[in-house]
Amino acid sequence: MLNLPNTLIALLAAAGSVYAQLPRPLINYPLGLSPVFDEGFFAGTVAPAATIVQWAPGKAPQACVNELAWNNCLSGRAVVYNVTYADCPTPWIMCRCDNADLSIYQMTNFFGRMPVHLRSTVRHVIATHGEGCSAYAITGPDDGDIVMQGNCNTQSVWLHETGHQLDARGLGTGVGFSTSPTFINALWNDTCVADDYGNTAPWEEFAQMTVVSQSHTIYGYIQQQQYPGCFNSQLNALETTFKTSHLTYGGTCHTRIPATPTVNAVWKRGRIDRRGGKRVGPCKFDHLVGGHKH
Ligand SMILES: [Zn+2]
Repeated sequence: MLNLPNTLIALLAAAGSVYAQLPRPLINYPLGLSPVFDEGFFAGTVAPAATIVQWAPGKAPQACVNELAWNNCLSGRAVVYNVTYADCPTPWIMCRCDNADLSIYQMTNFFGRMPVHLRSTVRHVIATHGEGCSAYAITGPDDGDIVMQGNCNTQSVWLHETGHQLDARGLGTGVGFSTSPTFINALWNDTCVADDYGNTAPWEEFAQMTVVSQSHTIYGYIQQQQYPGCFNSQLNALETTFKTSHLTYGGTCHTRIPATPTVNAVWKRGRIDRRGGKRVGPCKFDHLVGGHKH
């Protein structure tokens, strides 16, 4: 008969519970974040002036080729742009399939409405065609891309995906913040998660809390909580770590992830070698409220 001391049993239980803390019992935003926060982002942010220069056809960054091919964009339909914002001399290289639901002007606008230091956690910005809106982030140490699949025309979705990059890269240690003791303990201290999607994984909750924290940074208060204060430990952990460094507006870029090598934008359907690291998502978004076109 195995007779472990109680303390050892408790330790084993604690170790096993690191990823077993979700779902949390309460949901602060039952309809998701978009109906609560997107109007405020639209009213309270502006993108810096930007110049958009389209590449000649035939070439694209390797990461764009990988993701466009993966998303069933036909070879030859990649459109690539250098997008240079007034607050950073180094352009972001953005890529679309030519049937993507988002225009390059929308991509430039939604991405540009985020603080430059938050934008700097992203390497390439990619958009493809899709039904509704889903999105994912590629967060391996040699990656850093965000991919919008469909009509993702709300700021909360852009903040969520960029939040995955902040999670992966913000500490600069190669360790994700959402699985660090700081965030896991905060999650455990709180009685709620942001929304149902945040209840699916700590990294999804972190991405949703990035949306909340960005709104908090802009407005100084938290809108429409069902259970006021119920996620304050997470909010404090995120803001203590990242508010000054990534969520505050102003300044200029000082660290950027180098673009992937330029290659021929030609691929065989179904034959793409999709190298790279961990993909987070696809993150599914419902109840999106916004829809402003640019
Ligand atoms: Zn996500």
